[in-house]
Amino acid sequence: MKYNSTTNKSVCVSAAQAIARGISSDGGLFVPSKLPSYSSDDLAELLKLDYRGRAKKILGDYLEDFTKAEIDECVDKAYTAEKFGGENPAPVVRCTNGGVNMNILELWHGPTCAFKDMALQILPHLLTKSLKKTSSGKEAVILVATSGDTGKAALEGFRDVDGTKIIVFYPVNGVSPMQKHQMNTQLGENVNVCAIEGNFDDAQTGVKSIFTTSDIIDELDKNNMLFSSANSINWGRLLPQIVYYFSAYCDVVNSGRIKMGDSVNVCVPTGNFGNILASYYAMKMGLPVKKFICASNANNVLTDFINSGEYNKNREFYTTISPSMDILVSSNLERLLYHLSGEDDVRTKQWMTALKSDGSYTVGEDVKSGVSSLFYGGCCDDAQTKNTIEKMFKESSYLCDTHTAVAVNVYQKYVEETGDNTEAIVVSTASPYKFSKSVLEAVGDKDSMPESEFDMVDELNKLTGMPVPAPLAALRNREVRFSGVISADDMPAYVLKTLGIG
Ligand SMILES: *Cc1c(COP(=O)(O)O)cnc(C)c1O
Repeated sequence: MKYNSTTNKSVCVSAAQAIARGISSDGGLFVPSKLPSYSSDDLAELLKLDYRGRAKKILGDYLEDFTKAEIDECVDKAYTAEKFGGENPAPVVRCTNGGVNMNILELWHGPTCAFKDMALQILPHLLTKSLKKTSSGKEAVILVATSGDTGKAALEGFRDVDGTKIIVFYPVNGVSPMQKHQMNTQLGENVNVCAIEGNFDDAQTGVKSIFTTSDIIDELDKNNMLFSSANSINWGRLLPQIVYYFSAYCDVVNSGRIKMGDSVNVCVPTGNFGNILASYYAMKMGLPVKKFICASNANNVLTDFINSGEYNKNREFYTTISPSMDILVSSNLERLLYHLSGEDDVRTKQWMTALKSDGSYTVGEDVKSGVSSLFYGGCCDDAQTKNTIEKMFKESSYLCDTHTAVAVNVYQKYVEETGDNTEAIVVSTASPYKFSKSVLEAVGDKDSMPESEFDMVDELNKLTGMPVPAPLAALRNREVRFSGVISADDMPAYVLKTLGIG
């Protein structure tokens, strides 16, 4: 299987090259030229497998230049019971709230307690193997822009991985205290973390521009290094996310709530559009999904896009209590547009160029109707998010984090508006303990909030009885290693200095 660039179809690379490069040199994103297609017999085979078995089958179909032994090794090292707190790294929990049934897909049982672990525990293995296949001997420099969870998950995934160095940039006021503490206390010899003055989009723009600045690329090359990306624009991030949609579907079938072949709806709390796009790929491969419900917070650029066909980032940026979704440029939407436009690289490039120069673009009627027949867009603000957490806990004894609450809220709106009661998989993307303050404000006594982050964790634990994930508990007394803050303009110089070159 080959991979093309969304903005220049004639670019054609292997899976290993797509993963090693992260982004195409023309600035486009790598997409598979053809998708594997699963019949109901294939799905029936997946039913019998455990998560790792399902992952091996699906990854194998996409990574044709990897041997079976290589894929087995990547999967077995990534999804251990030890790292994910049990045999199934992505369990489905049944929940009823406000009379609406949901199958909650919990994706936060990994080492950093957010769904990014699902991809970032396996990406280092895929990437180091890809680099061996494509550019022997070069050291990979992983640059990450994060709105909180990617950074920590990437640091943990790449920590002390031979032949790699990782530098993470995060918006100084755009992450939760727990996220900041998780990153600033990161262990490992090959890691570096720095805050920037600005928001997530500033950090992401900075990283993207470093990736494509030829002077910097040359400087790395002279020193036997090359850039690689762990952001969700890397195909190696998206691919592992396809697996859990198949796995969740199989688990719901195995539970008896649906029959093999029945359609489901999927509701995903969305930021950079990676997670929901993975469910779209799963559908294109044969998973019976009827509607993709795209849930946003107050930064509702995607809601507006789905409803109008106009993507417009020229709007106020809100810092919300679901910071991992505080994004105005959803990078992975580019891949969806490419597919829905009939793989039209010329138009995709025009839209992306307009987005860069004007901050907006409008798609044609064909793409607009493609989007609205498959996707429902909805959003909610912080007050509604907290309200959802409170109601869900009181009515269903299920404690969810702020991001998951956005999905639950929008899913309930969807059911009310449409009356569509199709069984739904609602994606839960973080442990509530990563956002203790907001969650505690929702379910606890607002007038007696503890001051420190870990006192809030304790209070939340006392109030709900829900166990604190071990990786978060372990951070309590860990020493801060990184405390730098720089302006976004200084990111290139910071990278060179950290690498000791230039
Ligand atoms: C990253 C993240 C999201 C958004 O996922 P995308 O793939 O960027 O759309 C949602 N919730 C949490 C907790 C996250 O970390």
